[in-house]
Amino acid sequence: MTLRATFLGTSGAVPTTRRAPSAVMVHREGERFLFDCGEGTQRQMMRFNTGFDVSHVFLTHLHGDHVLGLPGLLQTWDFQDRTDSLAIHCPPGSRRQLQDLITAGGHDTAFPVRIHEVTPGTVALEGEAFEIRAFETEHRTTSQGYALIEDDRKGRFMREKAEKELEIPPGRRTGSSTPASRSNSTTAGLSSPTRSSATRGPAARWCTPATPDPSTRPSRSPRSRTC
Ligand SMILES: [Zn+2]
Repeated sequence: MTLRATFLGTSGAVPTTRRAPSAVMVHREGERFLFDCGEGTQRQMMRFNTGFDVSHVFLTHLHGDHVLGLPGLLQTWDFQDRTDSLAIHCPPGSRRQLQDLITAGGHDTAFPVRIHEVTPGTVALEGEAFEIRAFETEHRTTSQGYALIEDDRKGRFMREKAEKELEIPPGRRTGSSTPASRSNSTTAGLSSPTRSSATRGPAARWCTPATPDPSTRPSRSPRSRTC
């Protein structure tokens, strides 16, 4: 999974010669999300080669230093014959102000623009294996932040590290040990029956005690209880 954030503008209130007003481009697995769109954002996008194929814009609030780049960017997309729809996510109660802003130049885009008011605490965008959720922020006007939250993923089981560094003995379900090698140690077996799936499983699954034959059950070593 690739994730890249490009800080297009980090200046507050007014631009400086070295810094543009607020805008951050997040490039996740081929999708581009633009967070805020201050004045000159499209020039920053060209300068830093972020690409223009943006599907969603997320606005933290409607102060000019966070949104004044939006009308120009919409007009550029129109000149580029964009046909894909654009979703603009904004704080609750700001739809009308945003509509006035993007139509202030008398330009009506040929591509669909959808405005979504998002309440803090709710999901603005549900993606595949991730979501973008709004959260409340404190400011002089209604504002919010956005968190890109990735779904939990199973970690890669580092078998060699488990055995050599943590001295976790191989379990019979790993398929690597012989009965002799297990005879004096607790089996920390994997709950998955195959090696291929076991090696993909999270390390925590090592902690699932195996169920050895009661007649041959070895004493449990202290280390095996530390998982
Ligand atoms: Zn502000």
